[in-house]
Amino acid sequence: MVNRFSLEKLVRPNIARLKPYSSARDEFKDFAALDMVFLDANENPYENGVNRYPDPQQRNLKSILADQKGVNANQILLGNGSDEVLDLLFRAFCEPQQDNVITLPPTYGMYKVLANINNVEEREVVLTENFEPNVDAILQAVDSRTKMIFLCSPNNPTGNVFSVDSVLRLLNEFDGFVVIDEAYIDFSEKQSWLARINEFPNLIISQTLSKAYGMAGIRIGLCFASAEVINILNKIKPPYNINELSQLKAIERVVDTEGIKKEVASIIREKQVLEEALIELPYVQVIYPSEANFVLAKVDDANKRYDQLIEKGVVIRNRTTQELCENCLRFTVGTPEENEKLINALSSI
Ligand SMILES: *Cc1c(COP(=O)(O)O)cnc(C)c1O
Repeated sequence: MVNRFSLEKLVRPNIARLKPYSSARDEFKDFAALDMVFLDANENPYENGVNRYPDPQQRNLKSILADQKGVNANQILLGNGSDEVLDLLFRAFCEPQQDNVITLPPTYGMYKVLANINNVEEREVVLTENFEPNVDAILQAVDSRTKMIFLCSPNNPTGNVFSVDSVLRLLNEFDGFVVIDEAYIDFSEKQSWLARINEFPNLIISQTLSKAYGMAGIRIGLCFASAEVINILNKIKPPYNINELSQLKAIERVVDTEGIKKEVASIIREKQVLEEALIELPYVQVIYPSEANFVLAKVDDANKRYDQLIEKGVVIRNRTTQELCENCLRFTVGTPEENEKLINALSSI
């Protein structure tokens, strides 16, 4: 099958025509390093660290990320969390009440919420029993108005990475965008699809600083795609969507690659400890293999076990209402101390 990907056809006509807002800082960005007087943005001139508008293109942070991830800075868009990144994709490519997207439950709930907010039809194609994309069924659900397919890999809440073959088939046979949400990729041994970003014009990858990087509080989501796609998203993003404090904090942290690696390694070790404890419990029936920082387990009665853990002061996530997840609980891996508290609570109920 020939892929007829055409960016012109995928972008909404009003966005294609859009002349973006030009911020004061955009126009003179190349002079920032020079000793110039900036009286262009009606800021309070007295220095306090945050009296100036932040860099709308986050060039310092992006140049570090570009180096680390092996892409060009013009292939990166930063959002106020992945949530903003995903919302921008809907706004750039999906005409409300006309276009549709495909999601693969059980998966991250935000894709559906964002589709609803943007008044875009969401078609659901359930994963197979072993939590893989059902590629034939997905391709059958595609029509001429299907703009995006959302793949979450490692998938939340199942924890597995989708097979390379399934993803490849979708990239090759679907001529809209394949959006791969790699929020948990840093916990996995598998290669990120970032390594192949330049092979597929219809590939969009979303990552985040919220999980392995340990910065959920500063809200930074990363979007990687071709420079052409990023260009379109840049036109519609709010100019100052990443605030100054977040940019500075992110720069300080992402350069500490050794520190981040150590934490990730500890989380992976603790995940094993948790899995070994779960196996011993009589009411745990299945522990699904996870390449993320959480474990999904099937128990005898998820609602009951969930309530019992709350009584013991431990909050986990009950996923029992999700397709293929009947009686399943999702445990985030914490510190060794938190993990011990969880395991003690689990053993005492
Ligand atoms: C946690 C999570 C995110 C992160 O969202 P942010 O808005 O960047 O914090 C994205 N996708 C999935 C699947 C997640 O589980």
